[in-house]
Amino acid sequence: MTAKITNKILSLGSQQIEFPTSLTPGANVTITVGAQNLGDPAALAIEWVVSTPDGNPTLHYKTQIADYLIRTNGKHYFAGPVLVLDTEGQWNINIALFTSEGNVIQTDSYNGPLVYVGNAISKETSTIPKPAGIPHPEESMNPSATLTNINVNEIINKWLTGWEVPNEHWTYWKSTIDLQVYAIYPASLIAMGLKPDTPAGTWESGGRRHLAIKPQWLNPGVIAHEQAHNSYALLTSDQKVGYSNVYSTLKNSDPTIRLLYSKNQYGLTNDVEGHAEVYRYIGQWMPEQLKIFYPRLL
Ligand SMILES: [Zn+2]
Repeated sequence: MTAKITNKILSLGSQQIEFPTSLTPGANVTITVGAQNLGDPAALAIEWVVSTPDGNPTLHYKTQIADYLIRTNGKHYFAGPVLVLDTEGQWNINIALFTSEGNVIQTDSYNGPLVYVGNAISKETSTIPKPAGIPHPEESMNPSATLTNINVNEIINKWLTGWEVPNEHWTYWKSTIDLQVYAIYPASLIAMGLKPDTPAGTWESGGRRHLAIKPQWLNPGVIAHEQAHNSYALLTSDQKVGYSNVYSTLKNSDPTIRLLYSKNQYGLTNDVEGHAEVYRYIGQWMPEQLKIFYPRLL
């Protein structure tokens, strides 16, 4: 790669926000993409296509290879025309960056979410009306649960149905993710950093995501929290930045998230724990703008 995309910015008035992000319907925005030339002095060009939530290409922006060279490590910003976000839902963008030191070649790209357009108020997209208070209240741990008297499959199914996980993803959560219940964690997991008295944990190894849990803590809420970590692991680094952008506003403004943090502050530990706690306690009734950051769960 001789040049790379370094910044992806949505400008709204004087506000500049890294995308993907969330905005309210009707916003007039412009897209700016920053690029850095990592190779010999070269000319750069860019092309992007924005698609509406229905998947229709709506804005096609393309520059010619410039007639001036960007020095080695120099940066250049491409600013496109105004885009009106008039449709609710997830808008996507496909960006291609080109460089020329003779031949024109594509050197970097981004193909993914641009912005989620929706109102801050949660919509009732669930078939079940949103319960008052905390929608999925905490279940207490069961001190008498053991490996022999628990029914793992039944508890996983309670999570999958109670949180309305889409049916097409059940196999992923039941088989692709490796879920194991341990009375005592094996030495290999302790060596990895899992503390002996931790209720549950997730990690990646051998190209697979794993979830370990103790029988006393095997309940739908704890599974929901841990599987949110496994869903977060599916996000790209851009999407993780997008999540933090959107969540940092909502954690102070969304009434249900505020209610949650008034009762239980664990989600304030960091954005990753916040991601898991919002899913565990609010689930399918979380604000619409957050849902794109929970792949295979919502
Ligand atoms: Zn956690």
